[in-house]
Amino acid sequence: MKSQQPYDAIIIGGGLAGLTCGLALSGDYLSIPLKTLIVDAGPELASRNTTADARGSAITKSSRTMLQTLGVWDAVAEQAQAFEKIIVTDGKNDADNRPALLSFLEAGEAGSASAWMVENATLLSALIGKVQQTEQISFMGNTAIDTFDFSASPARVTTTDGRTFSAPLIIAADGRNSRARQAAGIDTVRWDYDQSGIAMTVEHELPHHGRAEEHFREAGPFAILPLSGNRSSIVWTEQSKDAERLMQLPEPEFLDEFKQRFGSHLGEVKLASDHAAWPLSVQIARTFIGQRLALIGDAAHVIHPIAGLGFNLGLRDIAALSDCLGDHVRRGLDPGGQSCLKAYEEWRRADTIMVAAACDGLNRLFSNAALPVATLRQAGLKLVDRLPPLKAFFMDQAAGIAGKQPRLLRGEPD
Ligand SMILES: Cc1cc2nc3c(=O)[nH]c(=O)nc-3n(C[C@H](O)[C@H](O)[C@H](O)COP(=O)(O)OP(=O)(O)OC[C@H]3O[C@@H](n4cnc5c(N)ncnc54)[C@H](O)[C@@H]3O)c2cc1C
Repeated sequence: MKSQQPYDAIIIGGGLAGLTCGLALSGDYLSIPLKTLIVDAGPELASRNTTADARGSAITKSSRTMLQTLGVWDAVAEQAQAFEKIIVTDGKNDADNRPALLSFLEAGEAGSASAWMVENATLLSALIGKVQQTEQISFMGNTAIDTFDFSASPARVTTTDGRTFSAPLIIAADGRNSRARQAAGIDTVRWDYDQSGIAMTVEHELPHHGRAEEHFREAGPFAILPLSGNRSSIVWTEQSKDAERLMQLPEPEFLDEFKQRFGSHLGEVKLASDHAAWPLSVQIARTFIGQRLALIGDAAHVIHPIAGLGFNLGLRDIAALSDCLGDHVRRGLDPGGQSCLKAYEEWRRADTIMVAAACDGLNRLFSNAALPVATLRQAGLKLVDRLPPLKAFFMDQAAGIAGKQPRLLRGEPD
């Protein structure tokens, strides 16, 4: 570890959000870069198993701009697959008979794609590489934070083995069960869907031509998301008890069940990664800030993965926080002071609630077999498909270019 004390900020958690946050605050972007310490309970960066996460992430256009600005995208670009077309079907029919109710011609209509699909392993490797080259970031693996003293100035954190670190600002990027959030006494609004998302990568015989497919089955969405080559990332939603049963099947039987939902349109298909099931829920922190504390990523919000926006929301948090911190530090103000934190909270919480509610509504609408709802959603999809302005609205939301954008998401200098 590079010794950088005293730190301007301590980031708890070095997952996708924590590492990106380190780069946004301590890389080449801010005109006065902060000194940050990232601590993570998992292994040191050099010994991380990046392929342990079998998920992929849809990266919106503004998120890509941000990763480009942070110098991360070049290491991802070759493996990133643009969405050329998105089709949505009412997946109650069998897998080889699902007419598209709604289609978005991505690159053709908008001039360039609105999202790219990247494996989390690729993203994580690119972020790790860049963090390792960044002087102003110190990273400590195998370091779990146990206790927090937010009332001290600077705030103090203590590890499970008794080491203490302090900084004016603590950034919680420690995931959905955030210990930092709990220690600050911040409650969440939360409900479970009784659904799990089984995620994995598959390889298929025929090319996908950049087509993303979302099939709305009664149990929840079944998404086939194009990766580079003849590969796709799958998010297969089932009721939790069915997902549990599927996860216990031997691989050949699991594959049989999978093929029934996947269909034969891409030819022969086989598993190309481990598969893992993620329980799905919504969880929004009642506030994104505390004394000397900012919550980002899943520590602040967990949403349904139906639109692939969870990490993108985390990137919006980081971009907004970097804007607020950049402005405050330039004026010689305390980076952990309430005026900076309040500006961050104002920027992020309302947007998060809107996106979480939209994803929740989509999931409820599409995971409902009752005839009036089924008829309504078919009508809704057809209507959206025929009205270009409505379509543009959905495309902008999906591309992450709606609403007030922080500088990093626009690719503008600090
Ligand atoms: C099935 C599925 C599909 C998804 N698809 C998409 C998609 O297409 N696009 C998208 O944008 N998002 C997607 N998401 C959401 C996205 O994966 C998450 O939002 C993102 O991974 C969260 O990253 P994070 O860094 O906030 O949290 P985490 O990945 O949970 O990282 C938290 C880190 O904190 C560390 N930590 C925890 N506690 C402590 C402690 N006390 N001390 C030190 N370290 C600690 C952990 O070791 C971990 O490294 C999907 C989610 C699911 C479930």
